[in-house]
Amino acid sequence: ISWTAEDEAIIATNTDATECKRCAVELGYWKDEYISYFVKHVDRKAPEINRGYYARVKAMEMFIHQFLERCGTQCQIINLGCGFDTLYWRLKDTTQAVSNFIELDFPSVTSKKCHIIKRNKQLLEKICKEDGEVIIRSGDLHSDGYHLLGCDLRCLKEVRRKLEAGGATGDAPTLLLAECVLVYLRPDAALALLQHLASSFPRCVLLVYEQCNLGDKFGEVMVRNLSARGCALAGERHCREPAAQVERLRGLGFDEARSWDMETVWRSFPEEDRVRVESLEMLDERELLQQLNTHYALTVATRGDLFADLDLNS
Ligand code: SAM
Repeated sequence: ISWTAEDEAIIATNTDATECKRCAVELGYWKDEYISYFVKHVDRKAPEINRGYYARVKAMEMFIHQFLERCGTQCQIINLGCGFDTLYWRLKDTTQAVSNFIELDFPSVTSKKCHIIKRNKQLLEKICKEDGEVIIRSGDLHSDGYHLLGCDLRCLKEVRRKLEAGGATGDAPTLLLAECVLVYLRPDAALALLQHLASSFPRCVLLVYEQCNLGDKFGEVMVRNLSARGCALAGERHCREPAAQVERLRGLGFDEARSWDMETVWRSFPEEDRVRVESLEMLDERELLQQLNTHYALTVATRGDLFADLDLNS
């Protein structure tokens, strides 16, 4: 697969996401001691953007914890299109550091991430083997329990090869993360990838966070925005409803799948969290936030009995 201007635009979405996360962290939406290593200065974002990111990060965390509660730390996490996500370091600071953590993204993203890790002791010391060794081979970073690998998710052969190099195993409980990633793959490539993952990991949880309900007027604006970022959604937007996502994932080999728009997810958060977050910034356009929330969804698909009961607020 050759590199295109579209790919460049897709790669830039990581800078966007990282900047938005840093902005929200600085304003006190949630804590992340590591995000500031990955992006330096950021301009202040609109309150509805900050709140949207809060819901996104909290929703992912809620299910990450449910996964870890059920299987303990003897498991693996595979972060698809990881960008500059800091989850590995955040977990390392808790009792929930997992035995293997694999991150995949385009090589130009992973090599930048690798460079930032090498330059910052606070990041590096958390991935070092006991003897302090970190191996960097052909642009990929390997250490005991953390692998950062350059890979095009549209190419299954490469995905397979990289997962093997990262020590992924079909035996371990596996958490697959796809936070704003699959939407950038053509539908056939996304389906092939998910089918492959479902068949490789008999005990797994897949978390997908991305745009949904794109068939209305607001959705049309989102589709235009996404197209400008190299995303090929044409012709597919009507099947991006939560119910259709669920059907699709069941058809791909997952036992169970559930999906909620972010307005529903937001209402499931503990009241004290919502009150705290709502007090951080004045929101002039509550309606805009609601519209954004109903155009993003969190989808959870599982294989294996251990994870069958994952749910909002369980
Ligand atoms: N998951 C991170 C987060 O939520 O902060 C990053 C999200 S960013 C919007 C999308 C990421 O997916 C980018 O880092 C991009 O490079 C990656 N990505 C998109 N298509 C990809 C592909 N075909 N292969 C590898 N990575 C891809």
